[in-house]
Amino acid sequence: MHPLSPRRFGPGIELLRAVGAEPGLAPEPASDEELARLHSPEYIATVRRISAEASAATGASGRRAARLASAPEAGIGPGDDPAFPGMHEAAATVAGGSIRAVEMILRGDVEHAFHPGGGLHHAMAARASGFCIYNDVALAIARARRDGLRVLYLDFDVHHGDGVQALHYTDPGVMTISFHESGRSLFPGSGFVDEMGEGTAAGTSVNVPLEPLAGPDAWLAAVVAVVPPLAAAFGPDIVVSQHGSDGHFWDPLAHLSLTTTVQGEAARIVDLITHLYSRGRWLATGGGGYAVYRVVPRVWALTWLAGAHRETPAALPEVWRAKWAGDAERWHEAPLPETFDDAAGLPPADSISAMASERAKETVDLVRTALVPALLRVAGDRGWWRFDDPAAATTTGAAPAAEAPPATGAREAAPTLIALLDPAQLDRFRLAPRVMAPFDPAAAKEILRNALLDGAVATAAVAGDWLVGVTLAAPSPIEGVDRLVALGVASEWRRRGVAASMLHALIGETDRRNRALVAFHTVAERDPVDPLPRALRRGVAEKLALGAAMTSRPAPDRVVAVDRYAFVAVHLPPAATPALHDRIGEWLAGL
Ligand SMILES: [Zn+2]
Repeated sequence: MHPLSPRRFGPGIELLRAVGAEPGLAPEPASDEELARLHSPEYIATVRRISAEASAATGASGRRAARLASAPEAGIGPGDDPAFPGMHEAAATVAGGSIRAVEMILRGDVEHAFHPGGGLHHAMAARASGFCIYNDVALAIARARRDGLRVLYLDFDVHHGDGVQALHYTDPGVMTISFHESGRSLFPGSGFVDEMGEGTAAGTSVNVPLEPLAGPDAWLAAVVAVVPPLAAAFGPDIVVSQHGSDGHFWDPLAHLSLTTTVQGEAARIVDLITHLYSRGRWLATGGGGYAVYRVVPRVWALTWLAGAHRETPAALPEVWRAKWAGDAERWHEAPLPETFDDAAGLPPADSISAMASERAKETVDLVRTALVPALLRVAGDRGWWRFDDPAAATTTGAAPAAEAPPATGAREAAPTLIALLDPAQLDRFRLAPRVMAPFDPAAAKEILRNALLDGAVATAAVAGDWLVGVTLAAPSPIEGVDRLVALGVASEWRRRGVAASMLHALIGETDRRNRALVAFHTVAERDPVDPLPRALRRGVAEKLALGAAMTSRPAPDRVVAVDRYAFVAVHLPPAATPALHDRIGEWLAGL
């Protein structure tokens, strides 16, 4: 039996109907032109030919079928992706479903859409892989990109979303975040933290690989720690998510040992994120899942319920259970559970899962250190902002005012430096876009205000009514040490020495307070809309630091291992004691 069996559609679709989902229309297959946005024309032709040959071979001649089975071509053949009659049409129809769903969202016909048959995230430009022929999710993303939208892709399947990552690896307008079992123990063998995107897109491929038996708590904690701040930093116009249910402890193909409960929680987090950061625009898809009676239908239902903003019913419908009990028994999935969420205490934890869960914390910490802007990490830690505050979500969502330009006419004059920004001054100015994280300037200004009230020190540059540059130093956990958590200038004002003057003034202030200033530069510190290539970005940051009497040091080894351009800049006050030196050295070594 092929693991992505059509068997799973019966119980899955019926449970969706039972909780209230109305099936949409059967989608048209994607056209060759649509497929060719990401797949090579040669590959599409090969799939079409093999598909037709397989159809012909189901007649009298077994010889051609045998020839087809002897050698894989473009990934199709013996193994995960066997040829089957109508293969092209079936795969193109799944792709068509995801593309059409995005088009409905773009037109505003619906806010959220769920395509349970989608999520074929392994397919590559010219190769089938892992049961996937055409990459419907990557094609849906490409459709949104055609309209210039910024896309956040979230992948909860137990396998790395390698195809989606690869197909958008050089596009800074697509951020992919994948939570999966480590490639060391599971197909497709990729998805490590150091796969971060290329060129200007460095920092937009995010991978959270977890060890076998990491379990539901560690998995959900990873989602909560990574998704909301990165969504806030990136500022998506639409979210596409893949809800493979193969991470479940009953799934036969993998070992993360998750529950339907946390899968449902993750879907609710995605729903919230879309209302906070992408005006509600959200396409959810299914994905892998091979426990087709006990797990897949429940995860589909929980995903749909999250998007429908409905409570999870107390129990699975008796009628549904009665109907599928016999089939479940036959396929060794009996007894069927009674509830959508898994019973508390399942799966049982042991010493291996405890170790895997510890490792997960380290991985999440590394991902956050390298990929979440320092300001947002500190803002979360110090309570300056909540990135998943349900109270902040509205039905229309916050449309990030990304492109509001500073007032014209003010551009010609040099900006004025404010050597020490106080909270009362903030009300007089509007914060220009892309001066500091997060993406939405209104949220950034609120963070800045709360930071100043919490004892952080800022310098700024103003032009007219606009704050066009900000530096911010926040108290660190180390006595006598501040951390540079923001240093940014609005795009119209860059390359005029504004950053250098602000940093110089900031260091004057920390010197006066006899405090050291430490800055961590990683791939996270970039303009999300117009990022510089990675090496250039580091060069600019380092030159700026050295020009402001900071010294450059290597970042901690574990950070450099995933981001080789990472570095640390340190400035010591004139009256620095040897003890201060030591404390900073210990701090950096321990990070
Ligand atoms: Zn919603």
